[in-house]
Amino acid sequence: SMASPALLMRVVASAYSVAEKAATIVRNVMSAGDLGIVEKAGPNDLQTKADRLVQMSICASLARKFPKVTIIGEEELPTDDVTEDLIEDGHCEEILKKPCPAQYTGIKEEELVIWVDPLDGTKEYTEGLLDHVTVLIGIAYGGKAIAGVINQPYYNYEAGANAVLGRTIWGVLGMGAFGFQLTEAPAGKHIVVTTRSHSSALVNECITALNPDTVIRVGGAGNKIIQLIEGKASAYVFASPGCKKWDTCAPEAILHAVGGKITDIRGNPFQYNKEVKHMNSAGVLATLRNYDYYASRIPNTVKESLVP
Ligand code: AMP
Ligand code: MG
Ligand code: MG
Repeated sequence: SMASPALLMRVVASAYSVAEKAATIVRNVMSAGDLGIVEKAGPNDLQTKADRLVQMSICASLARKFPKVTIIGEEELPTDDVTEDLIEDGHCEEILKKPCPAQYTGIKEEELVIWVDPLDGTKEYTEGLLDHVTVLIGIAYGGKAIAGVINQPYYNYEAGANAVLGRTIWGVLGMGAFGFQLTEAPAGKHIVVTTRSHSSALVNECITALNPDTVIRVGGAGNKIIQLIEGKASAYVFASPGCKKWDTCAPEAILHAVGGKITDIRGNPFQYNKEVKHMNSAGVLATLRNYDYYASRIPNTVKESLVP
């Protein structure tokens, strides 16, 4: 008889469906019109009703199926009972049919950490820049990001009423990544993508030092990794604290699954074990190709200003 699918593939298959439900919640909150905006650290650090409902939905749905997995979500919420309408118990059959990479077949629930950003690009969501928004579910094992799901709830929203709205991208190290067309950025052009709502003098100094042909300023860590894997940008450069582990875990797994590289600005890899500090204090540097080109041009003064 067929062996039952490996835990990792069951978690990814469930995360896929949970992320699709999350996307429906993100769209429903926006169309209902009451975003319920709350300031966290300040006016550039917001939480909406969508961030709250989606976090409850994702965390409760995954915890019910995988009770021994550690799940860390961005939002601090009261641990009230989650209403049943927020629970998703489905999974993606297609993912479950794929073989688990051999090095991950023995993973146990208590060895996994799931990092959840229920809504990445909240500032842009409140400003109507809807395609910047993603839902991020990153899966870590042994401190490494090994699998991830990125849902983009408003993919195609400017393509007209007949276009299918939203998409789900997923990937596993050693398997690859799916749900998009892998594309390299134009050869010989240096296109840097960075923050639009969390800039600073250091962020701009670092970009200037790279002498790029073009700078794209968009919201969301998930959105910026999508720009890299679809060839819209050649490097994601963010010389600032601000990004957290839930911003980078799912994007990292997907980028690494297709041969890209993400580190902090100083070149250190990110760690995703459950005890780790949440803040990526030393910024972000990510590319699909030519990581060394960009890493070698980050000024030492910028590196020294960012303490991991
Ligand atoms: P951005 O590229 O500005 O969209 O940032 C990517 C992710 O990091 C988002 O989840 C932001 O909320 C978060 N982030 C970056 N910088 C800051 C900051 N200065 N304060 C709060 N959150 C930040
Ligand atoms: Mg985020
Ligand atoms: Mg968020």
